[in-house]
Parts: sequence; structure tokens; C-alpha cells
Amino acid sequence: MTAVRYAGLDLGGTNIKTVVVERDADGEIRVLSRRSHLTHGHEGADAVVDRVAALARAVTGEYGAAAVGLGIPGWFDPASGCARLIPNIPGEWSGKQLRRPVETAAGRPVVLINDARAFALAESRLGAARGLNTVVCVTLGTGMGGGVVIGGRLHMGTGDAGEIGHQTLQVDGPLCGCGNRGCAEALVSSAAVLRMSGRSSVEEVYEAARAGDERAVRTVDHVIRWLAVALVNAYTLLAPDALVIGGGVAAAGDALFGPLEREVRGRITLGRPEDVRVLPAVLGTYAGALGAALAVLERDENGPVGKQGENGRIS
Ligand SMILES: [Zn+2]
Repeated sequence: MTAVRYAGLDLGGTNIKTVVVERDADGEIRVLSRRSHLTHGHEGADAVVDRVAALARAVTGEYGAAAVGLGIPGWFDPASGCARLIPNIPGEWSGKQLRRPVETAAGRPVVLINDARAFALAESRLGAARGLNTVVCVTLGTGMGGGVVIGGRLHMGTGDAGEIGHQTLQVDGPLCGCGNRGCAEALVSSAAVLRMSGRSSVEEVYEAARAGDERAVRTVDHVIRWLAVALVNAYTLLAPDALVIGGGVAAAGDALFGPLEREVRGRITLGRPEDVRVLPAVLGTYAGALGAALAVLERDENGPVGKQGENGRIS
């Protein structure tokens, strides 16, 4: 097996990140490049897709990448390659073709992957959960995304497996961006934290809580409690080796992880609560782009990358 290179792009509301990874003859994965470019989302969907396509062409040409993985901050139709809902970038995204323009520009096969699923794949292959068999990953920021790795492979189910943020926790709870009520995301995302605390940043909330501010302490307790419930539900269903948390809210560090792990263990009545591990993600802001590259690499391991099927798998 000779060395093969893959490009990964991560489309975000503020930045488009690009990486190139190389799998060498021994199967080892090396990261050759990491770059960040502004999305300029205010210019509209067409301009953003053009920018992604140009970046894919540039990075593929420069490094001779065999295929491109593209992380999408929302939902898409894997069969057609069109966007369904991209909530955090302005513009008309529904039905917008995402895969074809990038494929045409780069002259390489392109695989789309939800950005939270990409994060999960990266943390399981190269990050906090490296070497573990079954892992539940959660990215917690403006929204709450997730991904499930089973037997070392990203589990897609019929397409959107891993949406841990949209499990209902409170039947008549606050309205969620997905249209349902009482989703985990509606209870613990940064939007919920800011609304509850009356503060302007998540960092500020944790700082105020450390200083003993009563409203901030109440907010942090609320997040820990509901996040623990969400994680314990996932744990009960999948019995993972670890639960990995990343994203902006997770940057709170020990103030979150210590109490969260205790709360999770305290809520587990079956299995071995003392063995449950809640780990901070370690790959930082390039996890999504790395995961997008790994999504192509992983599917290419059993032969050349083919067409993306209806369930997101590659034939
Ligand atoms: Zn929801």
C-alpha cells in the first residue's frame, strides 16, 4: 500500500477549515496541512459554495489529494448532494447543490458528512477516544451535535444516527430549532445558557459561577444536570467505552467535566458506573475538517471512493 492523501474541508458559519491527511504505507495517518479561511456567509449561499469549491480545488491540486471530504453544518440529502437545512449560515440553502460544484472544481470524488459526525470520527480515530471500540461524541456550542462510533466505525444508521441533541428530555420544555420541544439542545446549548444566565458569553457564565454568582451557579447546575441526563440515555442504550464532549461549551474545562462525570455516574443504575468515562475532546477547532478527510479515507480503505448512497455510505 502506497501513501495516499485526502483533503478535508469543514464549512462553518465563521470559517472554512481545510486539512490534508496522508495515510502512509503502514496505515499511519499524518496531518500535512491545516488552514482557516473566512466563510463570508453574508455574501449568500452561491458565493459560499463557490468559495468552498475554489478551496477544494486549490488544496487538492497543491497536495495531490485523491478525494475530498466536506463537513456540512446541518442536514443534507446524501443521494443528491443537496442541502436540506443549514441553520447557522445566512442565505437560501434548502435544495442548494453542495457536492457537484465541489466535485467539478476539484476533479475528485467528494463525500459530504455532517460536521458533528465528522468531529466524532476524528476524535475516535485520532483524538480523545483513539483506540476505543464504542464511543458517543457530543459537540456542544450554539447547537448540540453528536456522533456514535461502534466497533471503531462511524455509525450512520439510515442516515442521521447520532443526533443526541435532539432527544426529547422535557416533554413540554423549551422550543428547539428543530421544531420539537424540550430537546437536549434547547436545554443545554450556549443559546440556552446565555438566556438563562443573562450573560453574553459562556466563558463569562463559568467565571461568574466560580465567583459565586447565584444565577450563574444555577445555570451551570442546570447544564450539568440536563447534559448528564442526555449522556446517561446514550450510555444506557449503547454502553460506550467513553463519552467525549467538545465544542465551545466544553471549553469550560474542569468546572464542567468533574461535576458532569459525577452526575453521570450518579444517574447510572445498571452496568458499572465507576467505569464510565466522560472525556474532553482534544483535537480542537480542526476536528471537523480532520473528520471530513477521515470519512473519505475510511471509505476508501476497501477500494476506491465510489458514489455516496442514500444512507450516506459509500459504495
Ligand atoms: Zn431539537
